[in-house]
Amino acid sequence: MSIPLASPDLDPITCQPWCENTDGHHQCCSGVEHRVHLSTEPTMLMADGSTEEQHLNTHLTRRADDPATRVFIGHDDGFGKSATLDEARRFALEILARVDGHKV
Ligand SMILES: [Zn+2]
Repeated sequence: MSIPLASPDLDPITCQPWCENTDGHHQCCSGVEHRVHLSTEPTMLMADGSTEEQHLNTHLTRRADDPATRVFIGHDDGFGKSATLDEARRFALEILARVDGHKV
């Protein structure tokens, strides 16, 4: 299934109050990224020769053609998936159940 890209000649979308893109963009709103660095994963070698800790990240996102806000759940730079608010909540609760209860 392919998702059509928003046409560049559309009117700029109404920005969400949490949006970090304040320059009248057209494609999607994007919230503040929150990162958790992964201390036991190997560091990544960057193109400029530096190294960077791997991380998980999450932020709010809303495409111009999507009526609902999504939660992006990803790792490192740009890789990840968008979840509905309910899916993100379920995923968070599953993680908490593993962490707090050590349930399998
Ligand atoms: Zn926006």
